[in-house]
Amino acid sequence: MKINFKKVLRDNLFNLKWRCNICDEENFNGDYFCDECKNKLPILKENKCGHCGRLTAYSVDFCDSCIEKNVFIDNARSIFAYEEPIDNLIKAFKYKERLYLTDIFCDLFIEIYLTNFSDTDFITYVPASEKSLKERGYNQSLVLAKALSERIGISIVKTAIKTKETPRQATLNFNERLENLKGAFELEKVDFKGKNILLVDDVLTTGSTVETLAKLFKKKGANKVYVLTVASVSKIKFKDLK
Ligand SMILES: [Zn+2]
Ligand SMILES: [Zn+2]
Repeated sequence: MKINFKKVLRDNLFNLKWRCNICDEENFNGDYFCDECKNKLPILKENKCGHCGRLTAYSVDFCDSCIEKNVFIDNARSIFAYEEPIDNLIKAFKYKERLYLTDIFCDLFIEIYLTNFSDTDFITYVPASEKSLKERGYNQSLVLAKALSERIGISIVKTAIKTKETPRQATLNFNERLENLKGAFELEKVDFKGKNILLVDDVLTTGSTVETLAKLFKKKGANKVYVLTVASVSKIKFKDLK
């Protein structure tokens, strides 16, 4: 295995808080981000959908994108809106092996977990296909779920495997994605009955993947399915993604 020295140094020798994790300038405020970058973070506050947690113009119980779908997810929450500079931070986490970012995201997950999902029975994650695991070397959804599980002491359960390679979904809308994902997952032998399940992922885009999994869990008798992601794409933005 090729050793990434820069990463090893960063993970083991340098305190993550010596430099701002966004602009990379020296930082003395004891936080992961410098004050300037911290003020620019698109943290989701009151202006969000009470159901899917996406950024909205003002606080609503159900946003337009939730009214006719997301029927199997009980509740979703994200730390950030998927906007600058968080989008780049997530890409770095996902594609450039900057896995130390897990700690930063996990700190913020805990706050959301405590206010929204404290009746969770177990944590799970979105499985990756073998092809994507081979390409990337890790499943970012599992990395986040594992970190959260360790921090809050709730067990992590492997609930599904991805049996079908699905083409890149970026150009498809919600319904096309749902169609695309039909038969893509197979459930593990897990007792879902009456369980409240917290599904962890990096980004909530249209929600088709988590919706597909939630449907399968509910068919097996799951009580509630919650979704926790680092960021969510607001409805206006995912129209652009189509
Ligand atoms: Zn900064
Ligand atoms: Zn919504």
